[in-house]
Amino acid sequence: MSSDQLKAHLEFFEELGVDGIRREPEWRGRSGVGTGSFRGPEGSAPLQDALVPVFLSPDAALKAIRDDLGDCTRCKLHTLGRKQIVYGVGNPNADLMFVGEAPGADEDVQGEPFVGRAGQLLTKIIEAIGLRRADVYIANVIKCRPPGNRNPEPDEVEQCEPFLFRQIDTIKPKVIVALGKFAAQCLLRTTDPITRLRGREFKYRDAILIPTYHPAYLLRTPSAKRDVWDDMKKVRSILAGE
Ligand code: URA
Repeated sequence: MSSDQLKAHLEFFEELGVDGIRREPEWRGRSGVGTGSFRGPEGSAPLQDALVPVFLSPDAALKAIRDDLGDCTRCKLHTLGRKQIVYGVGNPNADLMFVGEAPGADEDVQGEPFVGRAGQLLTKIIEAIGLRRADVYIANVIKCRPPGNRNPEPDEVEQCEPFLFRQIDTIKPKVIVALGKFAAQCLLRTTDPITRLRGREFKYRDAILIPTYHPAYLLRTPSAKRDVWDDMKKVRSILAGE
């Protein structure tokens, strides 16, 4: 196997949530671990004599992704006053995931997404469809607070979004709710305004993505709550298989 093929295999396994490999023979007998039946892309050699992937539970995979982030210095935000990385919170097996923009001041202090005023409203929105906050998973595109709550910049997004994608691919939610223009545009790779995106459903990775208004916008514009409620009723019926 060439080094390019090996790299492609490893990237393929990473996409599947494999976060480590062992070469030792004793790993080949473990349940859930390959014993020679793994194959790479069609036509390639069986992998029994190559590397043996170790499948992690979603919980362990999320911890491994967090470990990869480490005390992140990949972009300039670590020099601009962030107190801590705000990784994500909730059920690693959630059917429903919320993605916001970036931590604000409260999140930066507490290390958890959506714990400030907008977060309290998000919790109410979650409870309005019969779920608890602990049932869902909540994360942001950007894991560090931008100074003065400015919008994240493209180089910051570029460094940070791969970690969100890995979180999504690990959790494999049925529905992703993108909270606000920034998250929706980032996930959908579009510059369409949120007013054009909300009210629609998008196929995204293996999930259905529903863009909706950011709870911070709802705090400023309570009349938009009606639209968010419509979006959440749609989320509820997708989760119920309707
Ligand atoms: N706004 C966001 O987009 N994310 C948070 O975690 C808090 C506020």
